[in-house]
Parts: sequence; structure tokens; C-alpha cells
Amino acid sequence: MSEPKTAIVTGGSRGIGRACAVDLARHGWNVAILYRGNDQAAQEAVGLIEAAGAAGWAYKADVTDEDQVRQAMRAIGKEHGPVAGVVANAGITKDAMAPMMSLATWQEVLNTNLTGTFLVCREGLKLMRKTGGAIVVMSSVSGLKGSAGQANYSASKGGVIALTRTLAVEVGRVGLPVRVNAVAPGFTQTDMVRAMPPGMLNQFLENVPLKRAADPSEIASVVTFLLGPGASYVHGQVIAVDGGLSA
Ligand code: NAP
Repeated sequence: MSEPKTAIVTGGSRGIGRACAVDLARHGWNVAILYRGNDQAAQEAVGLIEAAGAAGWAYKADVTDEDQVRQAMRAIGKEHGPVAGVVANAGITKDAMAPMMSLATWQEVLNTNLTGTFLVCREGLKLMRKTGGAIVVMSSVSGLKGSAGQANYSASKGGVIALTRTLAVEVGRVGLPVRVNAVAPGFTQTDMVRAMPPGMLNQFLENVPLKRAADPSEIASVVTFLLGPGASYVHGQVIAVDGGLSA
């Protein structure tokens, strides 16, 4: 890419989002990350973006809060635009078998993963409506197939796939120059997966044809591709990056 453009990565302070931010920085993007509360992790991520030769900024904003998302993303557009890429990545798990899952647990995950993704995409479309760009939504293999103990998470990740396809059709209808795609990672070595008991993870990995979890950089490289010119005709798609788990 010749001129640096700005990408926004939600949940960019840790895990897959941080890897996306760093990979984008290596490929010529300046990157603004959104995070919820871990200031130290956010500052570390900014340091890594800068070490990769790009400008980096951290904005504390909870993706479940409409005003915070609006204010942070508008500020990024104004202060560091034009924004040409948005990675709607922030997400959480709160697992329980459905009969034991409280309504609060259901709603917390849906609010973050589905409603939060909607709010970020909506603001992203507004920011890029004239100058153009691309959005990548972070789904999961759990949105493609059933995952015991994850009724809330699977529903949210299936929901963002439907959201992605709907936005892809809508932008065509109203003439917005924005591509929208989703990535569906499998098990990836982040805090989210490290929180699982090791025995359980190993058991799950037995079902992965590649017999291992992904490194976050292996998800990030696909995200960078989808935001970049090489994916200029890729639109409305869900790319599984899961070692063959959903094959
Ligand atoms: P992670 O290591 O737990 O990091 C989560 C990130 O999201 C952090 O930066 C966190 O910020 C941020 N975040 C959480 N809730 C937020 C909120 N309400 N508002 C703003 N930021 C928020 O997670 P990860 O494993 O990298 O997962 C990233 C995405 O990939 C998620 O959507 C997840 O569902 C998806 N995914 C992960 C895996 C996997 O195996 N790891 C597999 C498939 C899909 P703070 O640190 O400030 O809280």
C-alpha cells in the first residue's frame, strides 16, 4: 500500500485483535485499537504497532455502549482518518450448558459479540461511506457448527455471519463503497483459550485435522488480506481459519 490508511481494530489490545493490529501495521496501515479496560495491554499493543513502523492509538470504549462506540470511532475518523478498514473483533465467552445458563449470561455474550459488532459495523460504514474501505467481522467456528456449552457464544457468532451477509447485500443496494467479510477462527492461542482446562483443550484439538491450535498471527494474516487490495472482489464471505475443524 502506498499511502498509509487507518484501520480500527476492536479488542485490539490482546489476542487475535492485537495480532491483527500488528500485522496491519507491518503492511502499511496506521492502527487505532479499541479496548474495554486493560490499559497496560492496550499500551503494549500500541508499542508493538509503533515498533512495526506505523502510528498506533488506543481508545478505551466498551463495544456494548452505543455512545462510547460512536464517540471513539468518530474521534478516530476526525483525528487520524481517513479510516479505510474496520476489524470488529472484540468478543467474550461465558460458557454454560443451556439448561444452566442464566439470562444474564446469555445477554452479556450477545450484547458484546452481536450487538457490539453491529454498533461497530454501523459506525464503520458511516466513517467509510465516502472514502470507501472494508470491514472484517470476527466470527468463530462455533458460529458454523454446534458447540456444547456455548449456546450464547454460538448464537452470537452465527448472528455475526448473518449480519455480515446482510451488510454485504445492503451496501450494494445503497451504493456504499465498502466490502464486508467475516473470518471464523478455530482454537487460537489467546487468553480466551488459555482459560480452558488443558485436558479439555487437548481433547478438542484431537478433532482438528491439523492437530493444533492456531497462532493469532495465522488469523491476522487472513484479516490483513481481506482488508487489502488483493481481496478487492471478495465480499459477503465467511472465511474459516480453523485447521480444517469445520471441513
Ligand atoms: P481475548 O484474548 O480474550 O481478547 C479480547 C479482546 O476484546 C480484548 O482486547 C478485550 O479488551 C476486548 N473486549 C472484550 N470485551 C470488550 C468490550 N465490551 N468492549 C471493547 N473491547 C472488549 O480474545 P481473543 O481470543 O483474542 O478473541 C478475539 C475474537 O476472536 C473474539 O471475537 C472471539 O470470539 C474470536 N475468536 C476467538 C477464538 C479463540 O480460540 N481464541 C476462536 C474463534 C473466535 P480488554 O482486555 O480491555 O478487556
